[in-house]
Amino acid sequence: MIIDIHGHYTTAPKALEDWRKRQVDNLATPELGPKVSELKISDDELRDTIESNQLRLMKERGADLTIFSPRASFMAHHIGDFNTSSTWAAICNELCYRVSQLFPDHFIGAAMLPQSPGVDPASCIPELEKCVNDYGFVGINLNPDPSGGHWTSPPLSDKQWYPIYEKMVEYDIPAMIHVSTSCNCAFHTTGAHYLNADTTAFMQCLTSDLFKDFPTLKFVIPHGGGAVPYHWGRFRGLAQELKKPLLKDHLLNNIFFDTCVYHQPGIDLLTRVIPVDNVLFASEMIGAVRGIDPETGHYYDDTKRYIEAANLTADERHQIYEGNARRVYSRLDAALKAKGK
Ligand SMILES: [Zn+2]
Repeated sequence: MIIDIHGHYTTAPKALEDWRKRQVDNLATPELGPKVSELKISDDELRDTIESNQLRLMKERGADLTIFSPRASFMAHHIGDFNTSSTWAAICNELCYRVSQLFPDHFIGAAMLPQSPGVDPASCIPELEKCVNDYGFVGINLNPDPSGGHWTSPPLSDKQWYPIYEKMVEYDIPAMIHVSTSCNCAFHTTGAHYLNADTTAFMQCLTSDLFKDFPTLKFVIPHGGGAVPYHWGRFRGLAQELKKPLLKDHLLNNIFFDTCVYHQPGIDLLTRVIPVDNVLFASEMIGAVRGIDPETGHYYDDTKRYIEAANLTADERHQIYEGNARRVYSRLDAALKAKGK
């Protein structure tokens, strides 16, 4: 089985975007709406957007199951206040849940959280509980920078985040550390802000003792870990200077990387530098990089091709495609086993 742990509902019906636009337009006058009930999307519309996009490409490329969360750049936690984010997160999570119900063999949900800059992250817990308990979601996306590129929140090691970690540990769910749209014009959203955040999150963990407090907490750092694998020597050296344990003991029981790196040399480096047990297959399809690479004639985000071509044994490939995902997303494993898979 091939499990893609990083997919977003980037192809949601236009009505969703229209509803959000009205919500944003009326931030100062929420009494003018829109009401949640004014968003009407039929099951047929959901089916169409999935069958002609993500599911079509999964079948063409040979992925079986995608962990599916709301569109990351649309989370835009910096917009409005907690109530704005709370309503928006509930709508987006429900759509992913409906997709998972329409295509139960191919999609299972991961939640966006109703984060808002300056608001206690504990406020996200009711939405998290609903998504896990009622929707069967198997993970969350945690935004380390709800301000959208201004980094006004304390680092991930700060105790303000602990209520979320306590709930993650209780439920045994991982968090993908995933920022949203940059509203800082210095940082391009997907080309700079995403990768900066991946690197930043790793370093915040490195300088802290977070995983001493939470030995079973699991973070997935997407986009191949940002700059981390490429600069592994720098991070090892910094850990040494800081008198931290070896990175494999300090961080690699808790931090995992996905394969959303869109060329062969990047995947070769990732799988050579990072232990195979810490690499999970993902494509972030259909996402930020949708074109065809003229050097190969294949889509940049057809990441399975790179795993196939990497210098890995059949066992290692199986770990990346399935074994590690089942270990990190234990609720996914349980859901699959309940279906005899
Ligand atoms: Zn993503």
